[in-house]
Amino acid sequence: MRKKIVAGNWKMNNDLQQTEALLDDLIANTPETIAKIVVAPSFVSLTTAVAKTHGTNIIVAAQNMHQAESGAYTGEVSVNMLKSAKVNTVILGHSERRAYFGETNALLAKKVDTSLAHGLTVIFCFGEELADRQSGNHFNVVESQLREGLFHIAQSGWDSVVLAYEPVWAIGTGETASPEQAQEMHAFIRNLISEAVSPAVAEETSILYGGSVKPDNAAEIFGKPDVDGGLIGGAALKAADFLAIVNGIQ
Ligand code: PEP
Repeated sequence: MRKKIVAGNWKMNNDLQQTEALLDDLIANTPETIAKIVVAPSFVSLTTAVAKTHGTNIIVAAQNMHQAESGAYTGEVSVNMLKSAKVNTVILGHSERRAYFGETNALLAKKVDTSLAHGLTVIFCFGEELADRQSGNHFNVVESQLREGLFHIAQSGWDSVVLAYEPVWAIGTGETASPEQAQEMHAFIRNLISEAVSPAVAEETSILYGGSVKPDNAAEIFGKPDVDGGLIGGAALKAADFLAIVNGIQ
């Protein structure tokens, strides 16, 4: 059965001390849940976060990774650096990486390959912008992002892929896709995987929704049959809110 997952993307928030404090709060108050809980602090805090969460059910992820194995890429972080820090999950393709750092589908395809070649789990983000939705082009945009960034991988690689559909117009805006809009897109994505890869892979792949998920809307969104959890930004920065969202997984 595919996994239920709630992942917190902390973005460029929380220094080392704030990371420790938030993790202490999360660890002390984590409810009984069937969901896998993931947190993605900054690179600087990863080793501390891994040490702190050892023995808990919280998984630590990185927010990004370079596609090359090593080399003259000042300021970048490689897959082996993450693995040496015992970080085995990475978020790739977040809309902020695409918009502010020029990450294209072609580049993301390389990052995906490097991650999977080294055994990492990839949380692959994608989603349309407001203009795409308004013009009715949102299904085409999402299909291109998936075909160009991800669908080239071998069938076996899908075991290590989690999808995160994040409509850009709903990220950090307080504007959420309705549960029906989320379900419609998630069903479309699952159908694409079924046709492009296999029905079994489509059935087993977790598809998270991201975009202004809050304690008061999580349960309804997560209740949709093709929504397997969420990728949470702003509301992941307060333990009580994040854990209330985790509780939205039934
Ligand atoms: C995100 O950045 O992935 C996100 C979903 O942010 P927010 O929850 O703040 O909309």
